[in-house]
Amino acid sequence: MNRMYGSRRREARAINSRNLQWSDTDFADVDYVAARAMSGSPLGSSLERLKFGMDRSVYGSCVELLAEKFLRRTRRAARMSLIHAALHEYLDDQCTVCGGKESVAADNDAAAKCAACDGGARTYTATERARMSSIAADSWRRHEADYLLIRDCIRSATGSHRKGMARALSDAFESDA
Ligand SMILES: [Zn+2]
Repeated sequence: MNRMYGSRRREARAINSRNLQWSDTDFADVDYVAARAMSGSPLGSSLERLKFGMDRSVYGSCVELLAEKFLRRTRRAARMSLIHAALHEYLDDQCTVCGGKESVAADNDAAAKCAACDGGARTYTATERARMSSIAADSWRRHEADYLLIRDCIRSATGSHRKGMARALSDAFESDA
């Protein structure tokens, strides 16, 4: 988890870098920028740019690409409020109890795993999801499957983006060696 976060921070730094010089000794920002483009997942790349590069200008394309992905999978159009809510959950996933630190101070001063998020990301309740989607709580059950599918589209896109980037970076490393 931490190592992954580290590489995301590294990627985020590269997104906003003004220094696009190549380096012979190490991966430079330009390598990350190139690897991002070669990851093979435009949606995953935009999602990570939105979240970790804090670039709001790609929000619209994230919505569009997610809607397309949903349509491809289901042959139905997604309800837009579900897409916005799922994006909100993806972006704002910091546990409200531990603030994303994943651990809380225990009685004996040792850090204990946060019970609210179990050391992972914040999980939204059905009530919160319904409210974010502007859907009445008692109708949520009819929309929940679509919502979870959109969440899955986000997960799989960011996953394949990360895998694609790792592949592109290791290819770059091998061709240098
Ligand atoms: Zn927590």
